[in-house]
This record gives sequence, structure tokens and C-alpha cells, in this order.
Amino acid sequence: MLGLFSVACSAGREGKTPPASPRESSSASAPAPAAPPAPSVEAGLAPTINAPRAMQYTKEVVAFGARPIGSENHRKLEQYIVGHLKGDEVEDDSFVADTVEGKFPVRNIIAKYPGTKDGIIVIAGHYDTNYPLRNTAFVGANDGGSSTAILLEFANQLRGKKREGYSVWLLWTDGEEAVKQWSDSDSVYGTRHLAARWQKDGTIKKIKAFLLADMIGDADLNIERESNSAPWLEDLVYQAAMKLGYQSHFFARTLEIEDDHLPFVKLGVPCADLIDLDYGYGNVFHHSPQDTMDKLSPKSLQIAGDVILQTVWMLDAR
Ligand code: ZN
Repeated sequence: MLGLFSVACSAGREGKTPPASPRESSSASAPAPAAPPAPSVEAGLAPTINAPRAMQYTKEVVAFGARPIGSENHRKLEQYIVGHLKGDEVEDDSFVADTVEGKFPVRNIIAKYPGTKDGIIVIAGHYDTNYPLRNTAFVGANDGGSSTAILLEFANQLRGKKREGYSVWLLWTDGEEAVKQWSDSDSVYGTRHLAARWQKDGTIKKIKAFLLADMIGDADLNIERESNSAPWLEDLVYQAAMKLGYQSHFFARTLEIEDDHLPFVKLGVPCADLIDLDYGYGNVFHHSPQDTMDKLSPKSLQIAGDVILQTVWMLDAR
């Protein structure tokens, strides 16, 4: 990832729900968001992920080396992901992206787990790694690795049982990273394509929530409250974190971040970007060859993974 804009406020470690950012609360002319009220949810406990297994997946993904679009390692990783989804309903969204660095094949991978309730919850994370750093020692353990792996572990939790709730679609996004310099036209190639496709075929209207995981493996986990996301969905994530006792890892800061959720935000889909942009002191490990396995911990994968699944279960119960 990503494009980062304003650092808004820091609050909420001890509070129940952090306040909205000054930017949001001061925009007096903006209409009140047409969001449902903060729900009081009685949902059952979601399953907990197998964090050591998620950590093992991260190791195996990182062992391929750098995985930028167009690379041999990227192709190997595509096979690795699909190889872990045997027996699941898997769909591809493949196309050629025309970028300032040339044309690249881009492939979003979607695994679908049907539910009894009408509607879809998408859980997404990118699997490509930074392109400009492709010829360095950069391997993207947290940035690319952790998101790939946690989705594979979600598949293990969802596979083989009909959900009593919404259908869940796991989405491994591709071409999230800029090839040169992050901008509207040089970023999130995969999700821009998929959002347009899902708008055309009517899928967009069925999506109840889009949960994005990015850089969630940092041993010192601090998930930001992200202000392009839907406030009510961020509130629900925080409720899920509180239910599991993990709220101290959530929402100490509010940031406005550009990430794979944006093409869906623009189409009115309620999104929550779960991202930790405090990766090493001053975020120094981000987009650095120091983004390696030793900076990650299975506990962080556990926290992020369990909170995401708990959020899904709470969405089911709304
Ligand atoms: Zn990145």
C-alpha cells in the first residue's frame, strides 16, 4: 500500500469509541451520513483462526521472494493461493493493466462461501508486492504477505459448511501497489477493475460490507481508524474488538488512507480498511527491505483475524 493523507486525531484507547476526526465533525455543510444507527448487537462468538497456521502461510508466501505484478514469483504465488482453495468455488477476475511502466497481467482471485442470508460480505487483501522495490531485498512480509495469508486461513474457517448468515467472498486483490508513484491512476488496478465489473453485473448492490486487511501482522499492532471507511462499520469493528478484549490494538489514531477499498467506497459500498500504518518507529519498515518475518507475530494475526471474523458474525446478526 498506499496513499496517506491527513493525520487527524489520536484518541480512544481508553474511550469506548473514538470520536470522529476533526475533518468529519467540522464539515458542517455535509449532509448527515445515511448510515444505519450504531447497532446493539447480540451475535454469537465467531470461530477463532489458527494463528500459527496463518503465520506459516505468511512464511511460505514470503519465501517466494518479491511478488510484484508481472513477475515469475507472482505467478508462483497465484498457483499457491489457488492450490489452497481446492474444492472451493473460485472465480478469477483477470485482465491486462495498462500502466506507465507497461502492460501487466492482473488477476484478482475470489473464493465464495455461500450463506443463508441474502447479501455478500467481502473480505479482501492484496497479494502483489511493491513494484518499484522489485530489484531490492524487499519481500513484503507484512505488506502483501500478511494479507495473503490471513485470507487463506479465513478460507479454512469458512470451508465446507453452509453459513447461517451472509455469503462471504474472500478476495485476493492484485495490482494494489503503484508501479511508479501512488496516484488515482497508478494504484489499486485490480479493485478498480473489479468494482467496475461488479457495478455492471449488479453485484455491488448485494455487498453489505467490504472488510479490507492490509499490514495486519506487525508484532506491535495498532490498527488505525480510517476515515474513508464507513463510520458505522468502523464502529462495528470496534465493538467486535471490545467483545474479544482486543480494543487496545484499535483506533488510537484516525487517518485518511487510500487503499483497495476506495473503488468500492466510491460506489457506495460500506467499507472498513483495517490497516496498521505504524510499522516500526515512524513506520520505517513500510516499503523497506526491513519488512521481514521477524517483525511479525502470530498474536497480531490472531487479533486481526478474530476481530474480522467477529465483525462478520455481528453483521450477520444485524
Ligand atoms: Zn505497499
